[in-house]
Amino acid sequence: MSKAKVLLTGGAGYIGSHVAKLLTRNGYEVIIIDNLSSSNPRKIYGKLYKVDLKEEKSVLEILRKERPDIVLHFAAFISVPESLEKPFLYYENNVGNTIKLLSALRKAEINNFLFSSSAAVYGIPDVVPVSEAAELKPINPYGETKVMVEKILRDMAKAQEINYISLRYFNVAGADPEGELGPTYKQPTHLIIRALKTAKGEYPYLEIFGTDYPTPDGTCIRDYIHVMDLAEAHILAMEYLLSTRESLVLNCGYGKGFSVREVVSTVKKVTGIDFKVVETKRRAGDPPVLVADNSKIKKILKWEPKYDSLETIIKNAWHWELKQ
Ligand code: UDP
Repeated sequence: MSKAKVLLTGGAGYIGSHVAKLLTRNGYEVIIIDNLSSSNPRKIYGKLYKVDLKEEKSVLEILRKERPDIVLHFAAFISVPESLEKPFLYYENNVGNTIKLLSALRKAEINNFLFSSSAAVYGIPDVVPVSEAAELKPINPYGETKVMVEKILRDMAKAQEINYISLRYFNVAGADPEGELGPTYKQPTHLIIRALKTAKGEYPYLEIFGTDYPTPDGTCIRDYIHVMDLAEAHILAMEYLLSTRESLVLNCGYGKGFSVREVVSTVKKVTGIDFKVVETKRRAGDPPVLVADNSKIKKILKWEPKYDSLETIIKNAWHWELKQ
């Protein structure tokens, strides 16, 4: 049997590009729809259509022409602070354009779908590590958009309108260990990228947003997952969905948390640069602790992380950053 044909929305972005590389390496045919709005890709694995998802007609034409076996939907806005400033933009793009994409999928009779969800769906979880069964109570519009799409998918799957796997990403970081790909955000907001750019001298100092959280050192704790381990999870999820048609929701994280201060000291150690850090007030919309219970993905997909080390994540990201 020939390998599946896979269409990625946002396949030129940070996570999508790493998944596209791994798919290509594993012999899959990759098609990409991306409007190139938020990243400057250095290399694209797959056939690119530069199209915005709001152009439903163009998307439908591509689906009818290419006939992918499955669609992996990465394209979305991803910044919590921006979602608080511009909520409508987030609902319009992350929910509205996903509905347009699903509508095109239905017309083209394509019913396998992987969704890029987020740990932001949990808000401030009652139990940490948080499992997929926890209540969904997001505390920012970004997280709300992910919950809304998950609800749409859940109801569609119940009515046999779609087969889907929703992957709830924790804090994705790092870069391709081979140095070909990495984050290319035009305006990075994520901690590790900002810390590395500060070490490089691009910013005068790094801000720590909040030192009065109920955590051991007062700063927020996150579960940082290497982008290549996340890419591997996508391949496994896709193969599982195509062979079983069983819809699932899975956490993607290591089950280990690091505080902002721990990340900053690891960045200083890896780079050997003692950059300036300024402690400032809390950033709105940030939960104190987010760490994954990853037992479900490990059991069902037999996912085995290969880069489960904060130092490796930061080393690979630093290597990439130095070439930018
Ligand atoms: N953070 C910080 N300084 C920065 C960027 C982020 O202190 O310049 C903190 C942020 O408040 C949060 C954690 O780092 O507690 C992770 O934030 P990030 O934006 O990387 O990811 P998020 O968890 O929001 O998806």
